[in-house]
Amino acid sequence: MTTNDAGEMPWGFQFPADVEALRARVREFAHAEIAPVAAPNDAKEVFPIETLRKMARIGLLGVISPKALGGLGTSNVALGAAVEEIAKVDLSCAIICSMQNTLGNLLHGWGDGLRASVNRAEDIIGLATSEPDSGSDISQIRTTAVKDGDELVINGTKRHVSLVPGATVLAVSATMEVEPGRDATTLIKVEANRPGVSWEEIPEMGQRAHQLAEVYFRDVRVPISNVMGEEGQGMAMNFVRWNVSRAVSALISLGTATGALDLATEYAKKRVVFGKPIARFEAVQFPIVEQYTRIEAGRWLAYRALWGADNGIASAKEASMAKLYGARTAFEACDVALQTHGADGYTRELPLERMLRDVRGMYFSGGTPQIHSINIGREIFGKGYAPHRN
Ligand SMILES: Cc1cc2nc3c(=O)[nH]c(=O)nc-3n(C[C@H](O)[C@H](O)[C@H](O)COP(=O)(O)OP(=O)(O)OC[C@H]3O[C@@H](n4cnc5c(N)ncnc54)[C@H](O)[C@@H]3O)c2cc1C
Repeated sequence: MTTNDAGEMPWGFQFPADVEALRARVREFAHAEIAPVAAPNDAKEVFPIETLRKMARIGLLGVISPKALGGLGTSNVALGAAVEEIAKVDLSCAIICSMQNTLGNLLHGWGDGLRASVNRAEDIIGLATSEPDSGSDISQIRTTAVKDGDELVINGTKRHVSLVPGATVLAVSATMEVEPGRDATTLIKVEANRPGVSWEEIPEMGQRAHQLAEVYFRDVRVPISNVMGEEGQGMAMNFVRWNVSRAVSALISLGTATGALDLATEYAKKRVVFGKPIARFEAVQFPIVEQYTRIEAGRWLAYRALWGADNGIASAKEASMAKLYGARTAFEACDVALQTHGADGYTRELPLERMLRDVRGMYFSGGTPQIHSINIGREIFGKGYAPHRN
């Protein structure tokens, strides 16, 4: 943290030079290496492993990972800037980048060898929390881990697991007896090639390259040493990660929205209707202006949350606000961008329809708008007013 002579943090909104430099590098890389494959990967619904390897070569899977492990060793704000640039051309790759960074570095217990391997894209990690009967309400997790000697035996079904097929290792939330008579949710590292792990792909509306699956664990045995962090601390670890991942998620949504609006702006200047570029019609120009304005507000809310996380300042409320506002704003902005393109925007010849489909998925991963409203409401009104508790 940089302070002035009086030991106070200076007031300012400029990004540090290293963040600006990273942003410029990522922008160039994203246009050269990710943009050309975004549409084909979406159409073929393939996990973009080749692109991830290229991203790893310039450090994008380890932006916040220590340099000793092959990462860039930089800040959460820098991670936000990197995913924003990637998302302008491809939301799926931005999500995978975000997940490798936040899962790999904000959950404990992967082991340094695996973290270094993730930074090189030799391993891909995923998160298996949601279940058929436990999405928003994570207290209802039914997957169990039972001790048997020096092993754990895992049984259960996880639903809507991102990056499967593709991920080589999953952080699985399971209910486990942590002391006699007391069960608590524990995170367990489970390699995807262990006997008893299988999955079925779930076809998605958008984010098709990032993949989604239902994953089954049938008598899967792992060593007890695969427990991540401490037994029973699974949810506490997730909460720490969410303070960053939710703000990063907002920047992914807003990055895609910016990419869509940039296309709309250029199109509106060129497309001539009734003898004028459509940009000169206020009904075309003003919605674009409105959406850029909202995006700018959302970006600063998200960066405020990430700056808080970098500086040890509580920012769970801001992270939830950013996630709630970012996802909604992005969907509306992509819709405006699509509409600006007329019927061409609706076709698969242009990326607008993919961008709209992709950002819609951001209403779910990392918590729905309703759940974030509950989180924010709890901070404003106090726990006693939480609408879903008796
Ligand atoms: C693209 C995508 C990627 C995902 N990736 C992952 C992943 O990698 N790992 C993982 O574990 N999960 C993942 N998920 C799952 C995601 O976390 C859940 O979808 C989300 O938590 C919501 O759970 P649900 O879908 O079961 O909805 P439910 O919990 O069944 O809720 C249904 C609806 O009711 C609303 N609702 C629920 N409770 C309340 C309440 N108290 N007040 C008001 N409204 C309420 C919800 O907001 C929602 O609109 C992903 C989902 C998607 C779409």
